[in-house]
Amino acid sequence: PPATEALRLESAVAGYGDATVLRGVDLAVPSGQVVALLGANGAGKSTTCLAAAGLVPLAAGWVYVDGADVTGLPAHRRANSGVFLAPEGRGVFPGLTVEENLALRLPEPARADVYDRLPALAGRRTVDAGALSGGEQQILALAPALVRPPRVLIADEPSLGLAPLIVEQIFEIFDELRREGVALLVVEEKADEVLALADTVAFMRLGRVVWSGARSEVDDGLLTNAYLGSL
Ligand code: ATP
Repeated sequence: PPATEALRLESAVAGYGDATVLRGVDLAVPSGQVVALLGANGAGKSTTCLAAAGLVPLAAGWVYVDGADVTGLPAHRRANSGVFLAPEGRGVFPGLTVEENLALRLPEPARADVYDRLPALAGRRTVDAGALSGGEQQILALAPALVRPPRVLIADEPSLGLAPLIVEQIFEIFDELRREGVALLVVEEKADEVLALADTVAFMRLGRVVWSGARSEVDDGLLTNAYLGSL
């Protein structure tokens, strides 16, 4: 059977004040698949994530979650319908401890599950999140999704500034979630590492998805053209 489409943006137009950033974005993320959203700085990748999560309103177009129109729903209602955003820059509170950060998102029994699955965090529970390494912070930000898998996980540049070994661990978490049927949208500026994980690749340029296709169709020539804007 065809994979269920967990997230779809259709002709999405959005921006900030008078500045239009998304100029008609079409993007679909099926359940149990990883879509890598690539493109140069400023192409509109982060804005796409925010629009999907309901943090930037659409001026036109639609967002669907599991086939239901959520275009008009605020972010907290979309979170309730299963959209989990791991924003750019980790999204943890540096002045709160690991335990306090988890408590904002999870009830007590689920926090125990986090420590079971991620023993590295268990030993750090009373430490301020700001004192963790970048990799530990990213894992902390993703931990709630690991114990309570969302329908859609959107990760904005999860590998930014992290050592390759940690990136590998984070991508293993994504792979596990994919096997549990989660739809993953993973934004990266550089293609190298995320290509190994992705089922589908979408390139953004100037506020539009200018190419999308199976990962197997992506080669160096296509990448070069995508980044140079000559697709
Ligand atoms: P980056 O890798 O820099 O995050 P991106 O592809 O994610 O790039 P966006 O962050 O979506 O791109 O930014 C697209 C455009 O929107 C840029 O021109 C940026 O300056 C502008 N922009 C982003 N956030 C805001 C904001 N809060 N207010 C005004 N303009 C913004």
